[in-house]
Amino acid sequence: MVSALSRRLLCIALVAVLACIVPPAHAQAGVAGQPLGVCLLADKGQREDELIRHPERFDCTTPQHRFGSGDFWAISDTIDRRSTFATPLALRFASLWQAQQTIHFLYADGAVRSWQSDRRGISPLIQLGAVAELPVPVRDPALVRVLFHVEGAANLRGVATGLRIATHDESEHANLVLAGLYAAFAGMAAALIVYNLALWCAMRHRFQLHYCLLLGALLGYTFTSSGALAWVAPMLANNDRLRLNYLFIGLAGGAAALFTRSFFEDQPMPRWLDRASRIAAMAVPLSALAVALLGAVQLRVADLLYTLAFAGLLAIVVPTLWGAWRQRSHFLWLFAVAWSAPILLAAVRIAAALHFLPWNFWIDNSTILSMGLEALVSSLAVAYRIKFLRDERDAAITREVIARKLADIDPLTGLLNRRAFLQRAIGREEAQQLLLVDIDHFKRVNETLGHDGGDEVLRLFAAALRHAAPEPVLIARMGGEEFALLTPAVQRIEPEALLASLRRIRMPFDMTITSSIGSCTGMLATDLDWKALYRCADSALFEAKAAGRDRARALRLDAA
Ligand code: GH3
Ligand code: MG
Ligand code: MG
Repeated sequence: MVSALSRRLLCIALVAVLACIVPPAHAQAGVAGQPLGVCLLADKGQREDELIRHPERFDCTTPQHRFGSGDFWAISDTIDRRSTFATPLALRFASLWQAQQTIHFLYADGAVRSWQSDRRGISPLIQLGAVAELPVPVRDPALVRVLFHVEGAANLRGVATGLRIATHDESEHANLVLAGLYAAFAGMAAALIVYNLALWCAMRHRFQLHYCLLLGALLGYTFTSSGALAWVAPMLANNDRLRLNYLFIGLAGGAAALFTRSFFEDQPMPRWLDRASRIAAMAVPLSALAVALLGAVQLRVADLLYTLAFAGLLAIVVPTLWGAWRQRSHFLWLFAVAWSAPILLAAVRIAAALHFLPWNFWIDNSTILSMGLEALVSSLAVAYRIKFLRDERDAAITREVIARKLADIDPLTGLLNRRAFLQRAIGREEAQQLLLVDIDHFKRVNETLGHDGGDEVLRLFAAALRHAAPEPVLIARMGGEEFALLTPAVQRIEPEALLASLRRIRMPFDMTITSSIGSCTGMLATDLDWKALYRCADSALFEAKAAGRDRARALRLDAA
């Protein structure tokens, strides 16, 4: 039944993942405007006016990343649109690892208007979604083409990608949608951090801290990858923003590995998996650090290492989930739902990074969506796990209470045993009356009815005692067929009356069974008091037996 439920939830997860991978049509707002094709040419010192006249020299078929890193020219398809004061146009394109850019707008009358970046690269152009946006200078003739000159392009994914010509309204709309998306995620992450930290203060489970670390890293990643950082710190070079991007997502990957480990830590893991997950938890942030530090020198190698480290992380999560599945983990299904979207999307991203898939805005920005989903569902997994911890604790408390009760109770009669009786008796403030009740000639009962019959007599006798002296009178079986009753002296039990009610017990085979009672009243504050009081009551009982049994005797403590 559990596995049927898990299967159904995995199906739901799969649908959720597909929904993330294939964004609905209206979600294209993030990539507003008219798309433009781009052709590429390696920079060999050509002049731009020469290239403007000869767009046929550009290579429009070879995938951009095949050109390797370096300096490039990139020319757009023909545009033929007017940027006017009423409807100003903007050029939008993806942010990539590049040192400097010059962008030339070519108009129908042959005029050229140019924009050149400073050492910050496209930082001043960054909009939400880390899309660069450059206003097309307003002129009467139509804009025909855009020519890029790019220096120091790492060209991991391309030189000029995601090019679009958008109207002011389209780009406003794109910014608004993305602001909503990022703000929703950031707000959720901040709230989850506060909530889980508060929970951690109360519960102190390591996985709660790892979860907060994961959320914190994702929050940092949101800040850098959304482009918000470029607005807050406009002096920061775009490549440095990308370095921070790598650092945060690497940290998130490492935290995710830690979270997975600590979440399932009570489930034994094969040693190789344990070691591998430790390595993955280190490798992902370290490779991200390598990208951040070595980016300017060896970005291609560092990025490949980083991609492989992330692939390694995914390779760890899958057997971890598989192991939890085989051990019938209660919270596996929630964890699987939480992680399936990021796992599949990360696989898609890795495939894109290794050029098995073309660059796509949504693949590039899928992390935030999938991690948002992951963070949200993981919080359910955390809550579910906490519920199990609570259930376990409640069961343990119940077991302990039962065990303690059993330790106090005589199993045959259900009355208190001697130890529990003494624990409750000694230390009472006011004077107490102690009654010792002993069945007469019980050996004979055993001989007549057998040992089991004798047990039944003891049970009936104990029940009759409890009936005759209800709570709060303390009643115990002191051993064998001797019972003790304790009550404050001011609520004294009349021994004769008790004896009379005991005589009325219907015994097996209507056997007549009598008992003798010795009673004594005195203080019971200390162990010594108890010894004295017990000795006194025992003497009274002895007197009753000696006088012929089936009777009660009472003594005063000083007379005993
Ligand atoms: P007296 O009138 O002097 O008290 O005589 P008695 O035979 O009742 O007293 P005695 O102390 O000589 O014998 C008590 C007997 O109770 C001996 C023992 O076999 C029996 N007994 C003790 N515990 C149990 C028990 O749990 N079940 C049964 N069936 N018999 C028990
Ligand atoms: Mg007896
Ligand atoms: Mg006895």
